Amino acid sequence: MSKTLSIAQLGDRVLRQQARPIENIESVQPLIDDLIGTAAVSNGVGIAAPQVGESYRLLIVASRPTIRYLNAPKMEPTAMINPQIIAHGDEIVKDWEGCLSIPGIRGWVPRYRAIEVEYTSRDDRVQRLELTDFVARIFQHEYDHLEGLVFLDRLESTRDIITEQEYQKQIVDTR
Ligand code: ZN
Repeated sequence: MSKTLSIAQLGDRVLRQQARPIENIESVQPLIDDLIGTAAVSNGVGIAAPQVGESYRLLIVASRPTIRYLNAPKMEPTAMINPQIIAHGDEIVKDWEGCLSIPGIRGWVPRYRAIEVEYTSRDDRVQRLELTDFVARIFQHEYDHLEGLVFLDRLESTRDIITEQEYQKQIVDTR
């Protein structure tokens, strides 16, 4: 059984640190289970280890439709260890993002539409994948957490921030 972990909130210094590479994959197996469980109960579509106070290069991509992201594609939660962005396309697209560590607001965040990533899977295989659109966005958001960045750092303007309440009213209700 996985534990639900408490989530570091903006202002916690762990969110501003560069996370450490993982050398021993066995040692992080329980953490992977707990991260997947925590993202699920929080209606998150991704989570990064620093968000639960573990400053390691590990993120989970767990896209699925939730009340926070109604149009997300469904996929198995995937743990990505020591992930890297190998290449990206030129096209940049904007969409709304929220963050479990920054509750109550959403931002209109520019990201690469397509990226090529490499990571080690939890069964210790090197994987290379092309990600596009919403899943590429999740990856870039979570990867930023490993670098001590949050989505606020990527905004072009503070005017691109709205409250969760306005997001629900203006965006979700009209989609
Ligand atoms: Zn986040």
